[in-house]
Amino acid sequence: MSKTLFQRIADREIPAAFLHEDELCIAFRDIAPQAPVHVLIVPRKAIPRIAEASSDDQALLGHLLLVARKVAQELNLKNGFRIVINNGKDGGESVPHLHVHLLGGRPLDWPPG
Ligand code: AMP
Repeated sequence: MSKTLFQRIADREIPAAFLHEDELCIAFRDIAPQAPVHVLIVPRKAIPRIAEASSDDQALLGHLLLVARKVAQELNLKNGFRIVINNGKDGGESVPHLHVHLLGGRPLDWPPG
């Protein structure tokens, strides 16, 4: 099976601005940032989207949130931040490899568009 875009980033075949990596996931800056801080936290395991995660992925999914928290702390997002997972067409998903968006550095509107 061919690699996903984010597997190619994890394997350093496509460059990215990395902020974190460990045995379970990577974190790097989004190429088209929607806020002053826009980071993607991506599991090495190519789960297509959260709708296709399983109970086996429970610890991995928790790990992604804790890495998002760590990156938010390291980037000094003291005024707050938002964590987003887009799922499927209506959810605005464009890359079919599960990822957590970390957004911050400006006030974020609610509800999102
Ligand atoms: P989503 O729309 O939730 O699937 O998010 C995919 C995100 O990946 C978008 O915010 C894109 O800007 C981002 N993206 C796509 N290609 C790259 C890349 N080569 N490096 C970093 N971010 C990327």
